Amino acid sequence: MIYLTRTLTGAIRSTSAAPFLRSFSLQHPLQISKARYDKLRLDPEALRRHLDKNSEVERYKYATRPEVREKHSRRGSRYHGAHRDDEAYQFVAKFQGWCKRHTWVREQLPWKTHRPVLHDVKVEHHCSGCNWARRGGVKLWFQHLTQPDNWLCMKCYLPKDDLGRAMPTGYEDVRSWEELVKRRDSLMVTAATGDSSTPS
Ligand SMILES: [Zn+2]
Repeated sequence: MIYLTRTLTGAIRSTSAAPFLRSFSLQHPLQISKARYDKLRLDPEALRRHLDKNSEVERYKYATRPEVREKHSRRGSRYHGAHRDDEAYQFVAKFQGWCKRHTWVREQLPWKTHRPVLHDVKVEHHCSGCNWARRGGVKLWFQHLTQPDNWLCMKCYLPKDDLGRAMPTGYEDVRSWEELVKRRDSLMVTAATGDSSTPS
């Protein structure tokens, strides 16, 4: 009996912890379990109702409870303070800005697996990386080049430990806007030279 309980406990631990390592925390935006979320996904209307209700509750708490606002602001400045000297963190912020502001970055660069797509309004795609929908949605998503229904959120597309992998072909080591523009120009020249180098 004891043995069975132990086995069961072990099994629960090993199966419940692993899939949540990447995406689940107490602060998860949906405030529901993975199992409940998976069930809700099958019923888009129920999921919609849940998302709406949840944002209303959060907005109400934010508007009416000063301690909730303080907690948000403390968490925000602590996070930014802790990452002030973090090169990868700073780069993610820059990268996001380039993708949002410049159409040529989104549409003309040789992206490898996904390309950035900027929606006019916030959209709640299901992220195939963290396997959740983001409540309230975001405008910038990364769409798979050959599977249009496959989306990644910014966090999943650009893992901080391997920035080069997420960059377009030929841009792997680029970390600043100046470098990006310079690289584009030099690659364009190379391409043009390559074209015109055929004997005339
Ligand atoms: Zn994600």
